[in-house]
Amino acid sequence: MGTGPRDPRRAGGDPVNPIPFLRPQLPSLAEIDAYYRLAEEARFYSNGGPCERLLRTRLSDYLGGVGCVPVDNATNGIIVAVRATMDAAGTGDRPFVVLPSYTFVATAGAVRMLGYQPLFIDVEPGAWQMDGEALADVLSQRHGEVAAVLGTHTFGLPPSAAVQRRWQETCREYGVPLVIDAAAGFGAEDDTGTRTGRDQVAHVFSFHATKTFAIGEGGLVTTLDEDLLERCDALHSFGFASGRVATYAGINAKMDELHAASALAMLDGYDTVLGRRRDIAAFYREQLEPHGFAFQTGSAGGTWQAGYVAAPNAATRTAVLAAGAEAKVGVGAYYDRPVHRHPAYADAPVHGSMTVTDDLASRALALPMANDLSDEDRDRVVSVVIDAAKQVDAS
Ligand SMILES: *Cc1c(COP(=O)(O)O)cnc(C)c1O
Repeated sequence: MGTGPRDPRRAGGDPVNPIPFLRPQLPSLAEIDAYYRLAEEARFYSNGGPCERLLRTRLSDYLGGVGCVPVDNATNGIIVAVRATMDAAGTGDRPFVVLPSYTFVATAGAVRMLGYQPLFIDVEPGAWQMDGEALADVLSQRHGEVAAVLGTHTFGLPPSAAVQRRWQETCREYGVPLVIDAAAGFGAEDDTGTRTGRDQVAHVFSFHATKTFAIGEGGLVTTLDEDLLERCDALHSFGFASGRVATYAGINAKMDELHAASALAMLDGYDTVLGRRRDIAAFYREQLEPHGFAFQTGSAGGTWQAGYVAAPNAATRTAVLAAGAEAKVGVGAYYDRPVHRHPAYADAPVHGSMTVTDDLASRALALPMANDLSDEDRDRVVSVVIDAAKQVDAS
């Protein structure tokens, strides 16, 4: 990697070695082929071929035993899981789906593609997760109008087990079903050491090239609820519950064999990948916390798609972004635009204040991350960030 004739660093002849924001790394073709030959031998390339079936078992084992439906991407997985959950709960005739605004636009896009109106709420300041009080408040005030709650695990990090339980209890109390967009969180652990996804509530993961579990395009829906699992399974394959009869009105969100083979290969090396990223993140934390940078509560159990951190204030974020551009260190501002401030969602209602969301949007940073980010590179990232922060402090 990085030494071929098309390497842009060499083509540019730049003396400073740039540190890209992300450097995705999928399994090698040889690793993928070791599984893909099962599909070739069977001449079975989609619709639940040998790789996809094996993947269901392996993913389930990895998560401690849970129903698994591999999908073609998380956005379609959310569409399938939300539809299935609302249908099972009988709430589909209500107009709104409640979700936090501090998320990726795909969460809201799925809601709109299902024909529902997003109803945005705030996050809380410690772990940057959906605010439990705002959730209870919106469900009490919009009683009978909310078809589902689409909670998120911000940057793939699960909230504490207690918070997850409270979300579920609040939704149960108001008779509204819950689905979780845990897109970046495959392999994440909460404060009790429990991996995300082994739950009655449907959880959706992304296997996009830029996620930590990277296969290009792909995803997963998990649930312990047998009825919900059957619905998700059917909905992701044209609504076929048995044979070629459409029991439900479904879509095609199936994972094909080549992606399933990639996912099997990814899973083989996944603990190493997670370990490396957690080490880099722990280094960022150790170095940056003394300078006023904040990390999500419980972030040690995260999957670290990028080095998520909040600058002490907006001026420092601006300075870090400028310093990163100058030093060719790929630093991003995630999420700098909450979903309710995107033009596509400007007409969607917001419930309560967005103080925490707007504050985080003004300060949040995403530092470079890669499975193979070198010690030298992570040192350079940290020194660029600290130098920029010191200059702001001194001014
Ligand atoms: C990445 C992401 C998605 C989209 O996942 P795809 O697999 O690309 O569809 C959805 N929601 C969140 C929060 C994400 O981070």
